[in-house]
Amino acid sequence: MKLTVLGSGSTGNAVLIVAGETRVLVDAGMSAKETVRRLALMGEDAARLDGVIITHEHGDHAGGLRVLLKSLSCPVYISGQTREAYIGERHGVSNDEPRKRSDVLRDRVEEIESSRDFRIGAIDFHPFTVPHDAADNFGFTATHAGVKVATLMDFGCITTLITERLRGCAAIVIESNHSRDMLKACAVYPWELKQRILSRTGHLSNEDVAVWLREGFDGAARHIVLAHLSQRANNPYVAQLTAESALHERAPLFRAETQITLSHPKEPTPWIEF
Ligand SMILES: [Zn+2]
Ligand SMILES: [Zn+2]
Repeated sequence: MKLTVLGSGSTGNAVLIVAGETRVLVDAGMSAKETVRRLALMGEDAARLDGVIITHEHGDHAGGLRVLLKSLSCPVYISGQTREAYIGERHGVSNDEPRKRSDVLRDRVEEIESSRDFRIGAIDFHPFTVPHDAADNFGFTATHAGVKVATLMDFGCITTLITERLRGCAAIVIESNHSRDMLKACAVYPWELKQRILSRTGHLSNEDVAVWLREGFDGAARHIVLAHLSQRANNPYVAQLTAESALHERAPLFRAETQITLSHPKEPTPWIEF
């Protein structure tokens, strides 16, 4: 099993998970052209995907889906609520967009639920609800041949359920959206947006990740990929340093052999294999 974060940040998110002959794209938030280009960079062919999972309707996770589907033949795995919200999402540019979205999804959808397991090819997916201001956002663990990985982005706080689900994973892709101080000091964001991001249904901070690494993380994962870094309210080195310091502060008995990797908005991470 292996994965790559093709791109991550407020400008667009997509993760590719591969197990055996099964290839699954998680989210389609970058432009279709860019997604296809980055798949090719990693030696993958968009036409050979076995499924696209859409976690929630926000533009940075689903904005590229409609056009991308022209290059794909696989189904879209999306929940009923997210599908509805995706079709109705305010786009501004064209009043025709809802109809186009609705048309393109017709006969292409495998309806899933945010808390019911499903399978794509050789990979079993175990989704779970996360707190975020979207219709029905979820994170998930994915298992293949006894190995488990997790992907979760866009959530405001780590719940007991999330801590439980992240135990025993070989690799974890987790949001490390902002530094709280940098966000508060950010001159560009209006107060309402800062409140939204900081809330329990907003986005996870570097500090939240650090608390989880010290107190909730079981040390099993050899790889943790920090994702969805804000380009205005975070700094990649600060995010990485905060996470690495937290790992070092763990009680000596539970010290983890974990490598922290950063994802980027503009380029894919190397393959992470386990
Ligand atoms: Zn997002
Ligand atoms: Zn979101």
